[in-house]
Amino acid sequence: MRIAFLGAPGSGKGTQAKRLMAEFSMVQISTGDLLREAVSSGSDLGRRAQAAMDAGELVSDEIVLGIIRDRLQSGDVDPGFILDGFPRNLVQAEALEGVLLDIDQPLDAVILLEVDFDVLMKRLTGRRTCSKTGKLLNIYFSAPSEIDECLADGGELIQRDDDNEETIDNRLTVYREQTEPLVDYYRDAGLLRTVDGDGQMDEVYRRLTGVLDLKDRCAG
Ligand code: AMP
Repeated sequence: MRIAFLGAPGSGKGTQAKRLMAEFSMVQISTGDLLREAVSSGSDLGRRAQAAMDAGELVSDEIVLGIIRDRLQSGDVDPGFILDGFPRNLVQAEALEGVLLDIDQPLDAVILLEVDFDVLMKRLTGRRTCSKTGKLLNIYFSAPSEIDECLADGGELIQRDDDNEETIDNRLTVYREQTEPLVDYYRDAGLLRTVDGDGQMDEVYRRLTGVLDLKDRCAG
């Protein structure tokens, strides 16, 4: 199955994509992760992307499309893939259609994860990664035992550079102005499926597999 996730920053795209990937052997392609890797490797591409990322703006279409073309044409996406954080504007959506046509792997569905604004803010400002286990945690929503488990033996709760309030505001504005028009674009194409992204991760995952008709395979 080939899916793209739409949803504001903090709507849970990455979390749900990782779980689908683990359970159904699909390849998760997160442009945010690929760009962060490029930044930390110090590559030329990373240097060109960094300023936009720090400001919560979109990285140029030229850079992102280059990354996504390479990734989709690398030959390992046959079992299916999940696009997480791509496309983020109409130019990217139209270019994606062309790339997928070339490799004969059109999208089966586009998932819109809907989450209330207040919840998004808490998810983003509270988001941390455990330095020891790499586990995603949230200072507002994770169980105290999970936080303690990370902090034991010298683990630290790391905040993403772009999860500060100013950048978050900007990312949400960019989402509303540039990415939200894709909801109509994919609705018109007959691909859009909307999932309520509020609530516990397991609950959201059940709704997601339900709309994708993957229910039977993940029962229990
Ligand atoms: P994310 O992890 O998806 O929230 O992405 C983090 C940052 O990477 C975004 O705020 C953008 O600066 C950049 N980014 C990720 N995906 C894209 C994309 N498809 N187009 C442009 N910029 C992107």
